[in-house]
Amino acid sequence: MGRLGTETAFEVLARARALEAQGRHVVHLEIGEPDFDTPPNVVRAAQEALGRGETHYGPSAGLMPLREAIAEDSSRRRGVPVKADQVVVYPGAKPVMFFMFLALLEEGDEAIYPNPGFPIYESMINYAGARAVPLPLRPENQFRADVAELSSLITPRTRIIVLNSPQNPTGSMLTSADLTAIGRLAAERGIWILADEIYSRILYGATHDTVLRYGDPARIVLLDGFSKTYAMTGWRLGYGIMPAEFAVHMARLQTNATSCTAAFTQHAGVEALRGPQEAVDRMVAEFRRRRDVIVSGLNALDGVSCVEPQGAFYVFPDIRGTGFSSKELAGRLLDEAGVACLSGTAFGRHGDGFLRFSYANSVENIREALKRFAAFLQKAGATARTA
Ligand code: PLP
Repeated sequence: MGRLGTETAFEVLARARALEAQGRHVVHLEIGEPDFDTPPNVVRAAQEALGRGETHYGPSAGLMPLREAIAEDSSRRRGVPVKADQVVVYPGAKPVMFFMFLALLEEGDEAIYPNPGFPIYESMINYAGARAVPLPLRPENQFRADVAELSSLITPRTRIIVLNSPQNPTGSMLTSADLTAIGRLAAERGIWILADEIYSRILYGATHDTVLRYGDPARIVLLDGFSKTYAMTGWRLGYGIMPAEFAVHMARLQTNATSCTAAFTQHAGVEALRGPQEAVDRMVAEFRRRRDVIVSGLNALDGVSCVEPQGAFYVFPDIRGTGFSSKELAGRLLDEAGVACLSGTAFGRHGDGFLRFSYANSVENIREALKRFAAFLQKAGATARTA
């Protein structure tokens, strides 16, 4: 159990709530979930399914109508044909990484993962007994993976490479050239790829591309889901797309862990994919407006510089010029300024010197957070000068 990590976002949220209980006002920019409600047609589909009695166990790999809808959606969006027997549906997208790592990693294996990156990769690689090998992402490279560096980290024990595009926490995206090179590299060496594409619909002008087009499809597991795209975080609905033979094992892990995903939730998922998509477009347009406000606001602060994200709903500003460490600044912003965000170190050691803000909050609240951040820096600067 000592090897298992966690997600700091949930801890910071609890601390912020404790401050609120004491009467303090906090702007929440810590948690990674859309602040929109699930589209009403999707909610109705779940209600109707419940009314029809869709309240029983179902197949571990997921209900066929949803697996077919996912296969069609992915084939159309990604331009790579996917069949329903390649799809496994889970309660959330997280189980895809959990089960994939349990299935493939042995003691002594190595897995390369982006750092800063979603903290569960490192946690689960370690938990499975393998060695977690960080691939540093840097602002000089727009937080994209450096393919030459990735190549230099590969050893005969490398079993999995994790890719995440658009990326949490930086909002970076891999280019088609990156994906071609990485796909080839992994295929030549017989290395599996986990392609975490949970933010593939939250894009600001860039075109999303996938390693599934360039790598060896026999060794790629693609992760996606409904949490972010359809504002369905609490429903718990995600999926993996993988070779059909591997899907059998990934479904068996589900049989052992959770049996299956809730049936009425899966019917809601069919409606989400097959129904109107305007709600998604509206949400992304609003995220883009917020991104522009927060990026320019952060870049206007003394000692702070921020790369413009291409997707997802996070910014990862470099705060090294403020003279604070990430942890101290995140802690003091919450305690003294009422702004909840995360230290970059919550995403791995290469996140040191950065903060992560989620801009899944109103423009008004984002402006208020920026104002508080500026006032905090000014006061801290004045204190430092006096001292
Ligand atoms: N992958 C990344 C990069 C994420 O940021 C998240 C959620 O924060 C997930 C996967 C998990 O998604 P879900 O809530 O569907 O399990």
